[in-house]
Amino acid sequence: PDLGRDVSADMVVDEDSTDDLLGGLQIDSTADIEVPDRLVDQVIGQDHARDIILKAAKQRRHVMMIGSPGTGKSMLAKAMSQLLPREELQDVLVYHNPDDGNEPKIRTVPAGKGEQIVEAHKEEARKRNQMRSFLMWIIIAIVLGYALLIEQTVLLGILAAGVIYLAFRYSSRGSDAMIPNLLVNNADHQTAPFEDATGAHAGALLGDVRHDPFQSGGMETPSHDRVEAGAIHKSNKGVLFVDEINTLDIRSQQKLMTAIQEGEFSITGQSERSSGAMVQTEPVPTDFVMVAAGNMDAMENMHPALRSRIKGYGYEVYMDDTIEDTPEMRRKYARFIAQEVEKDGRLPHFDREAVEELILEAQRRAGRKGHLTLEMRNLGGLVRVAGDIARAEDAEFTTRDHVLRAKRRSRSIEQQLADEYIERRKDYDMTVAEGDVVGRVNGLAVMGQDSGVVMPVMAEVAPSQGPGEVIATGKLKEMAQEAVMNVSAILKKFSDEDITKKDIHIQYVQAGQQGVDGDSASVTMATAVISALENIPVDQSVAMTGSLSVRGDVLPVGGVTYKIEAAAKAGMDRVIIPAANQQDVMIEDEYKDQIEIIPVSHISEVLDVALAGEPEKDSLVDRLKNITGQALESGSGS
Ligand code: ADP
Repeated sequence: PDLGRDVSADMVVDEDSTDDLLGGLQIDSTADIEVPDRLVDQVIGQDHARDIILKAAKQRRHVMMIGSPGTGKSMLAKAMSQLLPREELQDVLVYHNPDDGNEPKIRTVPAGKGEQIVEAHKEEARKRNQMRSFLMWIIIAIVLGYALLIEQTVLLGILAAGVIYLAFRYSSRGSDAMIPNLLVNNADHQTAPFEDATGAHAGALLGDVRHDPFQSGGMETPSHDRVEAGAIHKSNKGVLFVDEINTLDIRSQQKLMTAIQEGEFSITGQSERSSGAMVQTEPVPTDFVMVAAGNMDAMENMHPALRSRIKGYGYEVYMDDTIEDTPEMRRKYARFIAQEVEKDGRLPHFDREAVEELILEAQRRAGRKGHLTLEMRNLGGLVRVAGDIARAEDAEFTTRDHVLRAKRRSRSIEQQLADEYIERRKDYDMTVAEGDVVGRVNGLAVMGQDSGVVMPVMAEVAPSQGPGEVIATGKLKEMAQEAVMNVSAILKKFSDEDITKKDIHIQYVQAGQQGVDGDSASVTMATAVISALENIPVDQSVAMTGSLSVRGDVLPVGGVTYKIEAAAKAGMDRVIIPAANQQDVMIEDEYKDQIEIIPVSHISEVLDVALAGEPEKDSLVDRLKNITGQALESGSGS
């Protein structure tokens, strides 16, 4: 395979062991991995976006990147600036305009020239000042001499003070006004500029003219000296990156568009009542390539004209959230760790097992069979925390143990909340992990993106005066109604009880829970309702998740790994998951001995596992099997 690009030419890959976690990479630690120089070669995955960036850099086109945070949008924008030609860079100078002090003049020179010009002017001003002060001293000497001659001490003092004041004032003003202000300086830039204007206020984006508290009276700073460049000017001939483009206020978006269209933009004071607002420079070049970024919302909320401008004159590209898990990708992930370690500069390199653990984590976080996560910023965070722990211990290498500890430490806010929630509930003893209870089921939910939590559901069935009702509050009501509808379709077929004539109360045992994804609770609710209806208790050492079809099939849900881990943490013995989710289970080793995972594909199997109380249960499950078996067949026949 072509490893020249993905890892490095002299890296040894064992062709027979490419199935291992490192994709056959023969290294002792990440210190053995060479990191490519160019940023664009350091990007992991995102092949499509990378190709677009390469192309757009050549053609100087704008790019719009849509995708999750931390997938490499700003990294690619920066990479693009490294690909633009350095020769074209310019310095920009602002000069005093003798005809109109409020309209400073702009001059553009090749990069590096700006500093020289300013130096030359300073030198000249220095000489002029020397000359002036020389003349001044001569005048003072003459006046002094004369006053002494005619023996007039009072006149002497007044004259001397006046002359000194005038001379100083004149000389300093005159020379400042002559020295240009170096607005944009590219002298030390090895690559084209990269300006990140994410969240920039108007002044930082469009440039500004500072307020002058001494507007007159000889103390003022000349207006050209108060001019400040904005990101649109500093990024001239380079890349202007704006993330969360939709959060930029509409006026700024409009002005940004003007800058793109005209290729130049005058600088004026941004705050209306400041003296800077009177000043407006000649146009300053803004010949940048724009890389705008955001999530899907950003597309909808950004200024339509700006969007069509980018679309019409550039590219739009989606960022991937995950990538297929191949030996080549695993080798690149190893290189990613090397990159992050080198970027930080202080972390010990990762040994083999530590790299393996991180690749396992990338699998886990992908939440998708056979894929690795591309949310690299978060993964990089884990690398840093692990490395920091190793460094604090003066370890030579970061090891698997450091990574495991880092994982515990660098938990997301949601995970921390979930942990605390579990802890708190343990205090109040709300989680029941043993015994049998009618109508109570330990459901599982995901909080945020990556935290599981046990959510017990209670159902109660009561005869109704009128037509039956599903009674629940808030968001739960919608979910419950749907679940009950499905359950009633199944129940009708095997039970004499007509559920539509009953009131069904459903509630979470712990109120006030947010972020529960409804579908994945429908198996839980169905089980609770059936238990309540048939008066058969549920085994509380069982937790479950799954979505239920009208025919009783258990359908896959999201977040199974986190849910299983939550069940194990809460002390459950068994957990029921949809069989279709079996391949998504990537729980950490420590949980494997704690909990038994039971994959199911039908509600009858759920009840078989979850219900307690043998004779009633068996007959119920049998009936259910029979009837839903028929239902299945008739269903598939129609
Ligand atoms: P975004 O702009 O999409 O929010 P960034 O480009 O700022 O994300 O990513 C933050 C950091 O995460 C980068 O500096 C880099 O270290 C790492 N990173 C993100 N995406 C990638 C990637 N695709 N390949 C390698 N490193 C990445």
